Amino acid sequence: MKQQALEFLRSHILGLWPNAAAPSGGHGFDWNVLVAPASAAGEQRFDSQYWRANVQPTERYVLSTTRSKFCRLRSDDCGFLNLFLAGDWTRNGLNAGSVEAAVMSGIQAAQGVSGDNIEILGGYDEMQPQGTAAGRSPVWGEPRTTAVGR
Ligand SMILES: Cc1cc2nc3c(=O)[nH]c(=O)nc-3n(C[C@H](O)[C@H](O)[C@H](O)COP(=O)(O)OP(=O)(O)OC[C@H]3O[C@@H](n4cnc5c(N)ncnc54)[C@H](O)[C@@H]3O)c2cc1C
Repeated sequence: MKQQALEFLRSHILGLWPNAAAPSGGHGFDWNVLVAPASAAGEQRFDSQYWRANVQPTERYVLSTTRSKFCRLRSDDCGFLNLFLAGDWTRNGLNAGSVEAAVMSGIQAAQGVSGDNIEILGGYDEMQPQGTAAGRSPVWGEPRTTAVGR
């Protein structure tokens, strides 16, 4: 697992993190972007990272544990103006992995993309649209300032 992670950082990560290229140029990964003690050099800096292989099914799934609802990300909570989240793992009004949650989340994402106030049957009041003005979330009415790819 560790060797696979190191190989991914060495050979493939720049596709996702282009700004993590080594300052010397080329296609190498800049290990200094990893938070680690100053005494650690190069690939040693990986040893200070938290990493693990999730092999149990529960580790691959967002569970509905007590008081966990507010830790979920809302559809418009990714931090980008033009990117909306969808899936049963989002904060969609139903704190459970289910088709209903996935559908409600999908409608919230559709609200965000289209700007339309689409009714969500069974959604809580807090999940209903609060406005569609440009630069504000159709779902939550909160400012969104950054756009992906701009
Ligand atoms: C065994 C089982 C039984 C269930 N029974 C019920 C039930 O009876 N009733 C009920 O309401 N719910 C049930 N559920 C839950 C329900 O299936 C899920 O809540 C629902 O499918 C979630 O939908 P989703 O769109 O959020 O995610 P998913 O259905 O998981 O869809 C996500 C999709 O994204 C794809 N994907 C992932 N990563 C990438 C990537 N990097 N690039 C491209 N694609 C990617 C995946 O392949 C997948 O197709 C059950 C789930 C399981 C596992």
